[in-house]
Amino acid sequence: MDPLAAKTVFVLGFVVANFVIRTPYIKAHKRLPIRSNRNTRLDTSLFIAVGVFGFFLPLLYVFTPLFSFADYSIPRWIGATGVAVLVLGNWVFWRSHKDLGGNWSPTLDIRQDHKLVTEGIYQRIRHPMYLSLWLLVIAQAMILPNYVAGFSGLLPFGILYFQRVAREERMMIEEFGSEYERYLQKTGRLFPKLRPG
Ligand code: SAH
Repeated sequence: MDPLAAKTVFVLGFVVANFVIRTPYIKAHKRLPIRSNRNTRLDTSLFIAVGVFGFFLPLLYVFTPLFSFADYSIPRWIGATGVAVLVLGNWVFWRSHKDLGGNWSPTLDIRQDHKLVTEGIYQRIRHPMYLSLWLLVIAQAMILPNYVAGFSGLLPFGILYFQRVAREERMMIEEFGSEYERYLQKTGRLFPKLRPG
């Protein structure tokens, strides 16, 4: 893919995910009261790292010549597949926000009126939003023809995912007990279970 087209597609995907899809949920997040919060300093640092390396650094690449030393060329079919992954990632991102509704929060929180969601995109997988973020950082690597800006989202998000997902599940078990344990049996983390128990 031509670098200008790659940059345009990436910025469009970025704007749709972060502004069009997420903005109403950020507003709801600020409005709806939180009952308990398990955010640590490491969570906050990783959250900032994902923002900086997954989003601001690629934007610097798009709008300045700062990282041009790391440009390379990506085969067309990889770029085109990356665009499909970006579209799918945005769709899963939108769908998981819609299904989670007022229960969504950027950090590990339980709302005053928290409901366990087990339907819609949550019916067979427990972490569709993290799946969508994996898809978005993978798409970034496939689309942006630059070693620094393309790959910069994968590591910080990978660390955030692996240090967070088990803690989130423990929090949900503490909160919802056997209801969440039953939900665990039926679902996979990022992919549906082949044989739900
Ligand atoms: N891990 C989920 C949600 C990410 S948002 C996903 O990837 O789709 C993180 C917040 O969502 C957590 O603070 C938790 O309170 C909430 N959450 C996670 N799974 C949930 C569920 N099944 N129902 C309701 N809230 C959930």
